[in-house]
Amino acid sequence: MKLARVTKKGNRSFYIEFLMMTLLPLIICGIVMMMVCSKSIRDTMKSEAEDNLRNVALSVLAAYDQAFPGEYEAAVEDNVIKLYKGGTVISDDCSFIDGLEESSRLEITIFSYDTRMITTLRDTDGNRMTMSVASDRIVDEVFRQRKPTFYDNVSIGGVEYYAYYSPIMKDGGGECIGMIGVAKPATELKNRINRSVMNNIVVMLLAILITSFFITRFANNLVSVVKHMLVFMKSLADNKLDAKLDASVLQREDELGEMGRNLGSLQIALRRLIERDVLTGLFNRRSAEKRLDEIEASGVKYCVSIGDIDHFKKFNDTFGHECGDVVLREVAHLLNEGMNGRDGFVARWGGEEFLLVFENSNIEQAKDALTIIRQALHDKEVEYNGQIHKVTMTFGASEKVPGQPINHLIRAADDKLYEGKQGGRDRILI
Ligand code: GH3
Ligand code: MG
Ligand code: MG
Repeated sequence: MKLARVTKKGNRSFYIEFLMMTLLPLIICGIVMMMVCSKSIRDTMKSEAEDNLRNVALSVLAAYDQAFPGEYEAAVEDNVIKLYKGGTVISDDCSFIDGLEESSRLEITIFSYDTRMITTLRDTDGNRMTMSVASDRIVDEVFRQRKPTFYDNVSIGGVEYYAYYSPIMKDGGGECIGMIGVAKPATELKNRINRSVMNNIVVMLLAILITSFFITRFANNLVSVVKHMLVFMKSLADNKLDAKLDASVLQREDELGEMGRNLGSLQIALRRLIERDVLTGLFNRRSAEKRLDEIEASGVKYCVSIGDIDHFKKFNDTFGHECGDVVLREVAHLLNEGMNGRDGFVARWGGEEFLLVFENSNIEQAKDALTIIRQALHDKEVEYNGQIHKVTMTFGASEKVPGQPINHLIRAADDKLYEGKQGGRDRILI
């Protein structure tokens, strides 16, 4: 009960641990990559916007230079500031700048100091934002410090813009008389950035999902191999030595397959240890009884015989225990050979006694087989320490009567054996 619980828990945690080992790094990696890619997309698109705005600002200035060659100049006339270019008032007419807006699709403004003199920007009522002023920060950084600057969060009339400002210099760089500003509504670019980031996230998630699917399948596969081995080992632990390990495990070419094959070898060794007699290699009494039960259950007719080595004690007493062991091994080998090609089996029943079971045989057929075996034994010469020893056996045999308990059948064979011993040994009694 305890083993079953531990096994189940261990199995489950192995599966989860394996998934954690593989899926967790994948997910963390995916999230980090998504963050890095998203930042890189944002940076690239902002930098593209900055280049675009700068280029347009330069081309607007170039267009003004071409249309109105000469210097910029601001003058106050009737309390109204006017902006001149090459002697022409340019602040009264917005058609030129509107044309540039149409071709660039950007908002363009020309400042005198901090004030919008010509602009395509309109407020919510549709009025041009002429005479409105730039923020202190922009005036300070662009106008006073004369530093062209890109901003990704300028608020003009309550609307967010990406904007590029550049100072306008008089006399080829001496005095700064104003600024040019080119702006693009931030929502448009932000939407584009968000779309790209979302696409990127969807692709990444898909990649993570597909990889997770394969990892989970792989994990399931591995865990099923481990499960097969656990079930197999549990069967062995429950004494089910005929259990078979799933073929899918044995066919694997990897370490798990090797483990499975080693378990198979372990099963064979275990079976040998449990079912066989160590000295002779024959079935032991325990497995002989099990086999007899199986034969009985199958309903076939059969006979049993108990064979006992005659005067075996003398081998031990005269030549030592080791000599007795050699005789036992030789006899076992001979009996095994004698049963070759016959339905049935031979087992070491105890000490120097052996059980022979003849399946699908009546007592006459069993006797015929025993006669050949007894004769082979009779003719056998066992060599120990350079000396030749003769061995004989006495056999008692009995045929199974329907309904007769197995122990009665064995006792009947044993009684015949006793009779044989009394009768002079080296014989078969049925
Ligand atoms: P009988 O002809 O009446 O069968 O006489 P026996 O000497 O064969 O019979 P007994 O029962 O007197 O002796 C059997 C001996 O077998 C006693 C025991 O010490 C010995 N023996 C049992 N198992 C082993 C074993 O594994 N190795 C050895 N060397 N001797 C064993
Ligand atoms: Mg004996
Ligand atoms: Mg005996």
